[in-house]
Amino acid sequence: MTRPINATIDLQAISHNLHQVRQQAGHAKVWSVVKADAYGHGLKRIWSTLASGTDGFALLNIEDALWLRQAGWHGPVLLLEGFFDAGELALCHEYGLTTCVHSNWQLAMLAASPARKPVNVYLKVNSGMNRLGFRPEEVNAVWQQLRSLAQVGEVTLMAHFAKADQPGGTDDAMRLIRQAAEGLNLPHSLANSAAVLWCPETHYDWVRPGIILYGASPSARPQDIAPFGLRPAMTLQSQIIGIQHLNAGDTVGYGCRYHATKTQRIGIVAAGYADGYPRTAPDATPVWVDGVLTTLTGAVSMDMLAVDLTPCPHANIGSPVELWGQNVPVDDVAQAAGTIGYELLCALAPRVPVVTV
Ligand SMILES: *Cc1c(COP(=O)(O)O)cnc(C)c1O
Repeated sequence: MTRPINATIDLQAISHNLHQVRQQAGHAKVWSVVKADAYGHGLKRIWSTLASGTDGFALLNIEDALWLRQAGWHGPVLLLEGFFDAGELALCHEYGLTTCVHSNWQLAMLAASPARKPVNVYLKVNSGMNRLGFRPEEVNAVWQQLRSLAQVGEVTLMAHFAKADQPGGTDDAMRLIRQAAEGLNLPHSLANSAAVLWCPETHYDWVRPGIILYGASPSARPQDIAPFGLRPAMTLQSQIIGIQHLNAGDTVGYGCRYHATKTQRIGIVAAGYADGYPRTAPDATPVWVDGVLTTLTGAVSMDMLAVDLTPCPHANIGSPVELWGQNVPVDDVAQAAGTIGYELLCALAPRVPVVTV
């Protein structure tokens, strides 16, 4: 028997979630964001599922973009951070990739590149995140420059929200974006998942959902996405491979963090931080064992973790354990562990076998 851990990727859930996104996005076209190996779900595994319903793919690495072309995707591909050097810019021209342009060094590289088939550009405005992008007052001049270049085809205004999951969280950014776009008749692409769900006034021409395609919450709270009928695409599951009977005063795991206060049965699960389960998860973290919700007991080890079997007296060796997925939202595990669902999904370890259903 092999080690019983695996991750299941539910392709139907992904295509259902894309459908739900379309319901929200109205007439806007959809970039399916598949950076970070499709948020840990595997680009190669899921791209064809998305391909039947998306308008384009947005990602970071030129390697992934070229892979999509080779796999037969002829539609739009957006490099969210643009090209990183002149060689990549040449590949954008050659393979018809849309590139973000966020900095003057990229503008200069574009202007200096041999005029080839024009490349479509996403002109990025810094609307308050202060990571990438031109300041709103620079946008007009950058646009004039882009327009004058034979190397440049269509230009779209792009921005990214810092807090679209909070009420009124896009108001300041929208003011800056409107100021930047004034007088320029440019298509817009602004909305991430949170803005797709909660800020319809940001949808414009192209939306860029990521996390909601995979059924997790952009706000880190699963209850916030409940009205949208999204389904978790990834389930991380394992089994109980050992049982311990504790007496009052016994401790569990490294650092003896968990103390039994009474006699107690615990199960040892074949899943640890080397599988991508967060080591920072505290004792109250929810775990689904044998059809019942229970909790973690003691520090997560590299290859194992322990769970309280008090609520599930019938659980035994081989009982199924869900670490996150259908029954335990990844956001709940993440919240307990002091992070967000995004990080847990992206950090699924390569050693975990993946099953596609
Ligand atoms: C990651 C990313 C997105 C998608 O964000 P979600 O919160 O996962 O929807 C959209 N736009 C840009 C520029 C990104 O980097």
